[in-house]
Parts: sequence; C-alpha cells; structure tokens
Amino acid sequence: MHLLALPALADNYIWLLHDDQGQAAVVDPGDADVVERALARRRLSLRTILLTHHHHDHIGGVERLRHRHPVEVYAPRDPRIDYANQRIGDGDVVELFEPGLRLDVLAVPGHTLSHVAYFGAGYLFCGDTLFSLGCGRLFEGSPEQLLASLDRLSSLPGDTLVCCAHEYTAANGRFAREVDSRNPDLADRLTEVAALRERSEPTLPVMLARELATNPFLRIDQPALVAWGERNDVHCNDRVGRFAALRGAKDHFPG
Ligand SMILES: [Zn+2]
Repeated sequence: MHLLALPALADNYIWLLHDDQGQAAVVDPGDADVVERALARRRLSLRTILLTHHHHDHIGGVERLRHRHPVEVYAPRDPRIDYANQRIGDGDVVELFEPGLRLDVLAVPGHTLSHVAYFGAGYLFCGDTLFSLGCGRLFEGSPEQLLASLDRLSSLPGDTLVCCAHEYTAANGRFAREVDSRNPDLADRLTEVAALRERSEPTLPVMLARELATNPFLRIDQPALVAWGERNDVHCNDRVGRFAALRGAKDHFPG
C-alpha cells in the first residue's frame, strides 16, 4: 500500500492510498481537481472515498469525483453530507477490496458531533479531531466529548501513522512550547518541523507514540500540564476542566 498526502485548499491534506495495481482510495477530498491531477499523474483508478465529517473543506470535491469515477462513498450518518452511498458509524468495519484495506470506524465527537475516524493497516485517518501537536476546535461537541475521543485515539498502537487533515503543526508547536516548555521530545519535534516546513514538506503522517510524547492535548495528565492547569487556576484533579482551559487558551493564542 502506498500513502500520499495531497496538499489542497489553504492547508488541507487529502490522503490518497493506492495499491500496486493502481486502485485508489481518498480521504476527505475537499478539492476534486487536486485528486484528479494525482490520479492522472500516477494512472490510478479511484474506487473509494472516505469522509470523516461534514465540513466543506473535507467534502467539497465529492460531487464531481463521484460523477467521474465508479466510487463507493463512505460517510457518517449526518444529513449535512450528501452523495454518500455507504453510511457508517462507531464499531462498523469498512472492508475494501481494491485497494485491499480493512478499516475500523471510530466515533470521535467533539470538533463536530458526527465526526468519525478510520483506523486500519497501521493508519489513522482522524480528520479534524487530532492534529500533530494540537487538536480540533470545539464547534459542536463538549470538551468532555473531545477529550474522550482523544483518549480513544491515544489508546491505539503507538506505531500507528496519524494522518491529520491539516498542516497546522508549526502553529500548534508554538502553543505547545508555551505550555510544555521543558519537554525535550517536543523540542526535537519542533526542530524537525521547522526543517520540513523550510523545504515545504509535510510534517505528516506522524507516529502516534511521538504525539503522545509531544502533543499537550494528549498529555493532559502529565505533570507539566497539571502544573500549567494550576498556574491557570484549574483544580489539579479536574482533567476535563484542564482540557477545556487548554483548548480555550489555544483558541486565543496569537498565530
Ligand atoms: Zn472540520
């Protein structure tokens, strides 16, 4: 299996998986042209579209792609998503034959209420729930829901490759450094991220174990984040309160 990150729109990635026979699947195709160019360049046949949530920058290319290709479109049960012919939810398994792929569907509410993630073959397609060094904004769910979703993703195998839907790592890193300033793993990751972005290369996918060591939103129980909570008047045993405060602080962080 081959994995490609297709840059799209301002800072999205459309993830493309294909096998050696040229059969392809894409995740969250917000822009049909980007996908068409990638398919043409590599002579791939698009068979599957996987959608994580209803935001336009994730589904905007679906209508055109489904007219041009014989695709199955998998999406959560949400009337705000048109054009899906396969509706999926928590606990479902997406079994693809071309390319051969078995993906577990995980409900991960928070960024939106019907948001799902797809996990399988060592990959996690998590849409806007988890970003490298950050997490999605709370548009519809509660802090408790998003934290539970992130806890769930954190429990996946450490060698999982996390395929996030935006290139936000450098900006997230500036906030992470503020709240977890003595973390040597974070310092290493920031050095790497700066070098990658200097060359206009993606900072993704990233291994989950690395995120667990560096992403403040996955480190809410670690002493550095408990200390951050205490500095910000969040009671030390209230992890949801600390998470909500951290998410709120990020919302107001410059840049
Ligand atoms: Zn979104």
